[in-house]
Amino acid sequence: MSDVLFIEGGRVIDPASGVDGVRTVVIRDGKVAEVAERVERPRDARAVDARNRWVTPGFVDLHVHLREPGQEYKETVATGARAAVAGGFTAVCAMPNTKPVNDCAAVTELVLARAAAAGLARVYPVGAISKGSNGEELAEYGELKASGCVALSDDGRPVMSSALMRRALEYARAFGLPLTVHEEDLHLVGKGVMHEGAAATRLGLKGIPSQAEDVMVLRDIALVELTGGRLHVAHVSTAGAVRAIREAKRRGLPVTGEVTPHHLALSDEDVAASGYSTDFKMNPPLRAAEDVRACREGLADGTLDAIATDHAPHSAVEKDVEFDAAANGIVGLETAFSVCLGLVREGALTERRLVEALTAGPARVFGLPGGTLARGAAADVAVLDPAAEWTLDPARLQSKGRNTPWKGRRLAGRCTHTIVGGRIVHEEGKADR
Ligand SMILES: [Zn+2]
Repeated sequence: MSDVLFIEGGRVIDPASGVDGVRTVVIRDGKVAEVAERVERPRDARAVDARNRWVTPGFVDLHVHLREPGQEYKETVATGARAAVAGGFTAVCAMPNTKPVNDCAAVTELVLARAAAAGLARVYPVGAISKGSNGEELAEYGELKASGCVALSDDGRPVMSSALMRRALEYARAFGLPLTVHEEDLHLVGKGVMHEGAAATRLGLKGIPSQAEDVMVLRDIALVELTGGRLHVAHVSTAGAVRAIREAKRRGLPVTGEVTPHHLALSDEDVAASGYSTDFKMNPPLRAAEDVRACREGLADGTLDAIATDHAPHSAVEKDVEFDAAANGIVGLETAFSVCLGLVREGALTERRLVEALTAGPARVFGLPGGTLARGAAADVAVLDPAAEWTLDPARLQSKGRNTPWKGRRLAGRCTHTIVGGRIVHEEGKADR
């Protein structure tokens, strides 16, 4: 007897297959067997009632921090994967800035083993560009690729040396690995802790100019021209970076970009309004209104390929301190869909583009399986209730992190079921499975 699951009566939105309409998704033996308007369900087959819901490919996140090994008090691969599926994500890419840094097969294998044991979201490790992410010596890309890394990054810091970045692009190209880069010129950042502008001046906080990001994006696009390497710009936050990526794509260069929900939804004025709340401190910082507008336009017109959360859990030790001293980053896996659905309500994004930027878009960037409900694809599915309203209580997050700027806020849109490889791994209202 094969294992069959019917997801019935939902609005299937699958940009990769060009489907948008009420359909039933039939899953057999962990794969999508059929997406059809009318299909007879055998009496003994299991079913999910998806009426008035969206049924989309499971979300793919190119940028999360799972903190294991080394900082399990902040998050583990298992708790991060549980947060992922609670938010509709069926695949996440784990950044290498753990302790130790993921710059060798041993760390990659540990992350993969923990993910397999958790049995929730698929976890794709990202290896380090340089050993220890110190920016001095390249890591062994062949070893990282062979052990399962899908991309390379020194995320958390930039590759300041242009010469090392050139060699990284050349070396990664030989292994077919994209570099996903954290773009900031540390000399321009100085001691800055938020976006440089009127809000920072009023708050008396040191600023980080947008150009700290712009100059590095422009430099790396120039190095892509030199090397033919694959560049993905992580957490794009400035109008200048969006412009540079748009222009690079127009010239046919292999450059892609991602943007976070918070850089799409919040600005430096929200830092001011929050009264120095460290839940509004991240890197890159929340930017000016014109940068937010440019990021939204870049996402809408395809300049930016993906929405990525940059899920960055911290404990109270790192966050319950003064703004200058607080760690950067917020959790994002469990709020991404709701926050981005807000952009649709504001008219900044179409429903189709929202789903694409969470599914097929990111899958394409790193060449990952998934991101589609095409027949024969792995049955990774999110069932979403776009009308569900809820108040964010950090204590109820599956992540160990509580650091979110949407604390206590009313949000609309929730993931009700997440299916990975045909298995229901998250069902709203049910305890951990
Ligand atoms: Zn980063």
